[in-house]
Amino acid sequence: VAMGTLVTVKLFGDREISLAAMESGTVEIDRIETIMSHYSATSELARVESLAAISATACSPELTQVIRRSQELASSSAGAFDITVGAFSRLWNFSDGNTLPPPVALQSAGEKVDYRLVQLDGNRLRLQKAGMSLDLGAAAKGYAVDRAAMTFQRQGVTCGLIEAGGDIRYWGRKPDGSSWRFGIQHPRRPDEIIEVEDIGLSALATSGDYEQFFEFEGRRFHHILDPRTGYPARASTSATVWADNALDADILATAAFVMGPFDAISWIESLPRTEALIFFELDGVLDHRATSGIAGRIRFAQP
Ligand code: ADP
Ligand code: MG
Repeated sequence: VAMGTLVTVKLFGDREISLAAMESGTVEIDRIETIMSHYSATSELARVESLAAISATACSPELTQVIRRSQELASSSAGAFDITVGAFSRLWNFSDGNTLPPPVALQSAGEKVDYRLVQLDGNRLRLQKAGMSLDLGAAAKGYAVDRAAMTFQRQGVTCGLIEAGGDIRYWGRKPDGSSWRFGIQHPRRPDEIIEVEDIGLSALATSGDYEQFFEFEGRRFHHILDPRTGYPARASTSATVWADNALDADILATAAFVMGPFDAISWIESLPRTEALIFFELDGVLDHRATSGIAGRIRFAQP
């Protein structure tokens, strides 16, 4: 267990090499968590965040890389992805909450939510407004998965897979010659798996409204927020994105979820080596859309 979720690792090949690599990979994941956690007051993120509101503050290479990529994809997604949602997310409690934040609190937090208020110059971070909060919850897990996969490969593991809370990275050919196959959880039928072939990209990530939510007055309130309102994004029920690395897949899945199927599919089609599968509800009926590289490679379980 790490980063608030179950982490699964499969390493194929030599046993001694795998065991040693497993040790280093675990240390690496914990290290990344120590840098980026927004739950811990002693993380680098928490420290840098309070300093950067006063003056430009140096970040570690790891934090710099995650913030830089987040900013690029915030701009590319027209703000659907926005790490400054921290000002909103700290007002919500999705794990054991049952009330909504007061509208006035959301309204004043909204003044601190805009990725353009974040300036990253080299490794120096500056936040333009007091009280801003950076939430790397939709990117840090993907990055940690990439770092762990890199650690395993450096230690000589030629084939493996790591999964953390829906973010997956895999590499190599399985020794038995079988090909990779993945199961994506059906967004409304928890026992059902949607099977997807390996499409030759190294990572995939899923964001869903069924992961962290509570019901209030018959509506579902979940942890993926629309940065324009501070309320849960309503356009999708789940979004899965394939990319070359898990950092991008993690960020893109959250962004695609917020954008909704119609805008997100054409956006993802425009990005190289990236595919998406998005579920949504229209008049209470579940439907899905996929990009051209993934349509036809999805198999629904027969009921
Ligand atoms: P999960 O963490 O369940 O895998 P995501 O990758 O979609 O799902 O991340 C959701 C988390 O990202 C939220 O818990 C919150 O910390 C943060 N977040 C919520 N909405 C946004 C958004 N619009 N842009 C960036 N981060 C967000
Ligand atoms: Mg994500």
